[in-house]
Amino acid sequence: MDFSFTEEQEQVRDMVARFAADEIAPIARKHDDEESFPREMFRKWGELGLLSVRYPVEDGGSGMDKISDCIVREELSYASQAFASSWSAHTHLGIWPIWKAGTPEQKAKYLPGAFDGTKISAFGLSEPRGGSNIRALSTKAEKIDGGWRISGAKTYITNSPIADFMLLAARTSPELKPHAISLFIIDLPNPAVVIHKLQKEGIRASETGLIHIDGLEVPDEALLGHQTGTYPIILDSLSENRVGVAANALGMARAARDASIAYARDREVAGKRIGQYQAIAHKIADMDAEIEAARWLVYHGAWLVDQGKLTNAMAAKVKLVASETAMRCSEQAIRIHGGAGIMRDYSVGRIHRDALVYVIGEGTSEVQRNLIARALDL
Ligand SMILES: Cc1cc2nc3c(=O)[nH]c(=O)nc-3n(C[C@H](O)[C@H](O)[C@H](O)COP(=O)(O)OP(=O)(O)OC[C@H]3O[C@@H](n4cnc5c(N)ncnc54)[C@H](O)[C@@H]3O)c2cc1C
Repeated sequence: MDFSFTEEQEQVRDMVARFAADEIAPIARKHDDEESFPREMFRKWGELGLLSVRYPVEDGGSGMDKISDCIVREELSYASQAFASSWSAHTHLGIWPIWKAGTPEQKAKYLPGAFDGTKISAFGLSEPRGGSNIRALSTKAEKIDGGWRISGAKTYITNSPIADFMLLAARTSPELKPHAISLFIIDLPNPAVVIHKLQKEGIRASETGLIHIDGLEVPDEALLGHQTGTYPIILDSLSENRVGVAANALGMARAARDASIAYARDREVAGKRIGQYQAIAHKIADMDAEIEAARWLVYHGAWLVDQGKLTNAMAAKVKLVASETAMRCSEQAIRIHGGAGIMRDYSVGRIHRDALVYVIGEGTSEVQRNLIARALDL
């Protein structure tokens, strides 16, 4: 077994870490306070080839692998999870199903702009009446002459306030069966799609929307792959992305640990640096050990994606462990910082608010446990 990263993967890490330190970290606080995302960031990512890391060269991608994709995620999240979330919703959720199941015309229309950052995408699956139970989704698409008429609502949709197109999941038949759910590619803005930007406690710089769709008419060409029943594509996409967001969580956990180490080396209480108190040193040692465990689970998951061997249960384990690690590490980081941990001038409060999003988004920890338990025939 060889656990080492390749030279190319190490170069990707160095490049993204430098970019994130120079271009994202200095503006992360400002955009968190303002709850806004700087659109031009997508162009910068596009110029560096960072929006198409895991897609093959023959489809216009950068031609790397899932391991490299996870490295990019880890380093972006180390600087700001909000920026990394906007990146992830676009590069994976908004693009992957088109790459996987789109017709040649759909790929030609959407992938080049998505890869160079001139077009921003969103993925509309979750609905106000429940995100965990996907099969119950109620947004309806009715067949009309030459196309479809869609009505319904979506909520918590990342990037939707700034998106140029959105993949929208809708019920193309009333049965509560997987083949009754299909994906449509919707160009935005559209007067029949009203998007209200939501205010959030976590990943505040990433823009999130509540969407009302009222009698939206789209041509047949908007149906992904020109086929109904693409629910299995949604499940495959979510499964792979659980490994991806686990890499994001790893980046947050590392950022919390490193901020804690710096603070523990610097802060003096009663004539001693707090890192010399065993209670503080042990907290940081626990973080370090848990991060190491999460790191190898995340990259094992990425390797399984590259081998075409990822199972739903394994994806759930990777996401569960890494996201809960980020939660624990960021909470401990706040405790280590004392009062400073609650102050916006320090990063650890933001990291904890952001980490909370990832024990919910992309399937809650409870949903991950359900998937793992199901694989154990429980
Ligand atoms: C910041 C943010 C960005 C997001 N971005 C997107 C996006 O881009 N696209 C998109 O489609 N969605 C997005 N989501 C939605 C996200 O996927 C859902 O919030 C998530 O799936 C949970 O759904 P819910 O919020 O409706 O919670 P609910 O489904 O209402 O769950 C509430 C509680 O009940 C528990 N629960 C529910 N069902 C079960 C069960 N069967 N067993 C045990 N416990 C259960 C949950 O674990 C949770 O604790 C985003 C969410 C957030 C917060």
